[in-house]
Amino acid sequence: MQHSGISSWRDRERIQMPVYTDNDALNAVETQLRAMPPLVFADEARRLKRDMAAVSRGEAFLLQGGDCAESFEQFGADMVRDTFKVLLQMAMVLTYGAKVPVVKVGRIAGQFAKPRSAPTETSNGVELPSYRGDIINGFDFDEDSRIPDPERMIEGYTQAAATMNMLRGMAKGGLADINKVHEWTLGFTAEDKAADYRDIANALQDTMDFIRAAGLSPAKAEELASVDFYTSHEGLLLEYEESLTRRDPVTGEYVAGSGHLIWIGDRTRQPDGAHVEFCRQIINPIGLKCGPTTTAEDLKVLVDRLMNGKLDDAGRLMLITRFGAGKVEEHLPRLIETVEEMGAKVVWTCDPMHGNTIKSGSGYKTRPFEDVLSEVQEFFDVHQRMGTVAGGVHFEMTGQDVTECTGGVIAVTDEDLSDRYHTACDPRLNASQSLELAFLVNKLMRE
Ligand code: PEP
Ligand code: MN
Repeated sequence: MQHSGISSWRDRERIQMPVYTDNDALNAVETQLRAMPPLVFADEARRLKRDMAAVSRGEAFLLQGGDCAESFEQFGADMVRDTFKVLLQMAMVLTYGAKVPVVKVGRIAGQFAKPRSAPTETSNGVELPSYRGDIINGFDFDEDSRIPDPERMIEGYTQAAATMNMLRGMAKGGLADINKVHEWTLGFTAEDKAADYRDIANALQDTMDFIRAAGLSPAKAEELASVDFYTSHEGLLLEYEESLTRRDPVTGEYVAGSGHLIWIGDRTRQPDGAHVEFCRQIINPIGLKCGPTTTAEDLKVLVDRLMNGKLDDAGRLMLITRFGAGKVEEHLPRLIETVEEMGAKVVWTCDPMHGNTIKSGSGYKTRPFEDVLSEVQEFFDVHQRMGTVAGGVHFEMTGQDVTECTGGVIAVTDEDLSDRYHTACDPRLNASQSLELAFLVNKLMRE
């Protein structure tokens, strides 16, 4: 059967998507989700697009961050609050360095479905289908858990809705109150190494004191305490995405209701594949991961297709590059040249996480802090040399005090990894490492 409109992805190759065995159950879930309120609205997606257009021109900087995979089991108010808080603190530090507004985008309220490098996993001689994220199957290593269950989409939606409700409340509150900058110590206890942090915190404090002394009205101060906070996730599970897509009541255009920004992963960016086919039809800003295997030819087709031929549609497309430390110089220039030759107005951001995953001596998947920082540095260097805009950064991070990435001021060592290794998928920067990174990126931007 030929599918039309927003369902047309169903006639394309499905990559990294589960095969559900119970079609009736799947249909029932899709029907249920189609009746649910969307989590985001057309005007919000357009506002993010406008903000991202500013990023593409260097008039704003983009910070995207959150879990690799949100978890049903670890979900809770503290978790959401802490991630939000650290992201806002990072944004504040980056604003100071970039001297432009920071567009804040969480990997949250829908970041559940995971592409995997292998279809199966083996443990103690037992081979089972890989875990694909809580919205698809279970993390526990037993046969039943690993069967894809469409009902999980309802739990995903419910959790995303609760998360969104909390984010909307917090974005109006004073959690990231700039006046509390000195309270953001977040365990920066190593006195000698916290100097950079203190310098900037002092400078921020001075600025605030000055503004207040110069007579900033209470209403304006309140304005500073409220922020625009957007949500994003990889649009991998297309049954979920399609079921939450709505038509803009005014223009009739398709709007993904699952999050403000949807990105396409490094493994699912086939120009003729299902994911590109879905994403090109929604009006939300789109992210596209670009890795070492992204060819100039593919990128050309992808940029054209995802921008629907409107290459000057700034804010529509964000290219998230993820090559690995030491490899940016080899890959980024050719992609920049391709985009420049096309004259396409894109946002360039750097994901310094996914090209820097290694297996530690103790057996854990980890990422060395120095490599993460190096890749960001290389990203800035290449853009500066080529005269293009280094638009933002993309981190896997959490507000919790986990031990998943090595390094940082309060050094996490290989041996420490087993202490608090809680991620359901890739290793995340902890709260302290995240904030430290923001300070170091802030320094890079000022150099
Ligand atoms: C991710 O962002 O978690 C991810 C899987 O990234 P990539 O598609 O770049 O590998
Ligand atoms: Mn990841």
